[in-house]
Amino acid sequence: MTHSGAVADNSAKKLHRIQRGADQHWVGNGFPARTLFTYSNLGPMISPFLLLDYAGPMEFLPTEKRLGVGVHPHRGFETVTIVYSGEVEHRDSTGSGGIIGPGDVQWMTAASGLVHEEFHGPDLARRGGVLEMAQLWVNLPAKAKMAPPRYQSISNKQIPALSLPGGEGSLRVIAGEFGGVQGPARTFTPVHVWDLQLASEQPFCLPVPEGYATLLVVLKGLINVDSETIGSAEVGIYDRAGGHIRINSAQNATTLLLCGEAIEEPIVGSGPFVMNSAEEIRQAISDYQGGRMGRLTY
Ligand code: MN
Repeated sequence: MTHSGAVADNSAKKLHRIQRGADQHWVGNGFPARTLFTYSNLGPMISPFLLLDYAGPMEFLPTEKRLGVGVHPHRGFETVTIVYSGEVEHRDSTGSGGIIGPGDVQWMTAASGLVHEEFHGPDLARRGGVLEMAQLWVNLPAKAKMAPPRYQSISNKQIPALSLPGGEGSLRVIAGEFGGVQGPARTFTPVHVWDLQLASEQPFCLPVPEGYATLLVVLKGLINVDSETIGSAEVGIYDRAGGHIRINSAQNATTLLLCGEAIEEPIVGSGPFVMNSAEEIRQAISDYQGGRMGRLTY
């Protein structure tokens, strides 16, 4: 950052708006999701992030049925699935797949396109239990939208966990870095994804890069910022200017702090495809319908 002076770096990012009141909808028959933010109304403000669905927490009874969502495509972005409780199983047309449980993360790069299915894992189905997970969509720059798909399965123990220096809670670095500690996820553009558990009666700051889109996703608990409260299933969206965010207090909060460098390109999306133009969306639909995004082979 050569153009941002010391004044900007020393100031807090201002809370720009709070997204509230997300309605629940079912994704397939297994994921009771609330879309906490989406590019469809926020667009460039949240770039490089596109969308976040928060599913649960919801108790499921033991079942012989496979609960989830069957084969569907994606092209042009990445899906990041973070499990808090329960178990999610994934298979895709590149031959990748796996079962992830609490603390685990699946970072799937759809890029040029794949098809996949997402279901409750076998142990959750057999024993029943609480499902709670988040799925974040991260955009890709135009030059990577037609790159080969890839899959990163990131286990809980691969994710560095640190304590905040003032004792306000703990932080897991899923992607990017915090205080010089690198997270395991490989990303196409600079992105930090921190999984934070926060509790503090005292104000404190978190350093966040100048110029980055910054979203504080509160899944559970309460965060007080300025004169506002961000509650469960709500998202604080900050101005890009400023070198940190200031939190006045936090009550038993499970949050995701997302920040990243904007991708300054047009965003044109339709359902499971996010590209740069309407023509590329038509091509994606045609490629999917023509079977050119692959199929599940096992
Ligand atoms: Mn999907």
